[in-house]
Amino acid sequence: MWAVPSAFGHPGKPISSPHLIGGPIGMKAKSNPARPAARRGGGSFRLDAELVDDLVAANRTLARLGVLDAFGHISVRDPRDPRRYLISRSIAPESVTAADVLLLDLDSQTVDPKDDGVLLYRERFIHGEIYKVRPDVNAIVHSHSPTVVPFTVTRAKLRPLLHNAGFLGLGTPLFEIRKCMGDGTDLMILTPNLGKDLARKLGKDAAVVLMRGHGDSVVGPSLPNAVFRAYYTEINARQQLAAITIGGPINFMTRAEAIASNEAMLRASARPWALWRKRALAER
Ligand SMILES: [Zn+2]
Repeated sequence: MWAVPSAFGHPGKPISSPHLIGGPIGMKAKSNPARPAARRGGGSFRLDAELVDDLVAANRTLARLGVLDAFGHISVRDPRDPRRYLISRSIAPESVTAADVLLLDLDSQTVDPKDDGVLLYRERFIHGEIYKVRPDVNAIVHSHSPTVVPFTVTRAKLRPLLHNAGFLGLGTPLFEIRKCMGDGTDLMILTPNLGKDLARKLGKDAAVVLMRGHGDSVVGPSLPNAVFRAYYTEINARQQLAAITIGGPINFMTRAEAIASNEAMLRASARPWALWRKRALAER
């Protein structure tokens, strides 16, 4: 028995072995000879059932709220081994079930031999490479958040005007893939090196990195907070677009207000999360 760190959204909640699951995950396929067992890092491949349910709820919630569509993905760092993270196999977020969740290392490769050959998200390097350089980050949402995209292709800078979105005041760096790969890419993060470039652009402090013509990647100290931030990034973008439409100067939050609001919302994000999780899991 041990306590899950509060950063994972279950403060002090003990995990005992009955809560652990280890059933078949995803599609079985032939073993991958390029991934020898010696590189898997050993240890247990069993997943915490409550954390798996959290990830299922997060996927369904952000799909229902219009942040994720048939694409996008969410991960959470494994509280038992920070060198690993949980993420679904490659399916639409609203379809994710507990049986789809698997464990990857920070090179974004499967660690459990039974997952060899399972179809993985092609942009999973976003997650592994950010976890490598941001030890404060325990959950990541990558989405094509529809109202955010216009702010990645225009001069209008996404800035916090809603108090729930104070975290935007930590910075909204814009990743321009042409600077790394030149013209002609499909704009996706398909390699570890591109994942590293994106993580570098996110930097040490920001909670969101915008991706030109693509979407964003949102990070948080916990899964509930990352879900909260992904949702309110979209909401702030909608409200900023509305404010631009109304016209005239926009009275954005000051940096001091943004920092104070972010601190408050780090505590408050547990409330919507409890509602979202309950609803998502009731719909199974
Ligand atoms: Zn994407």
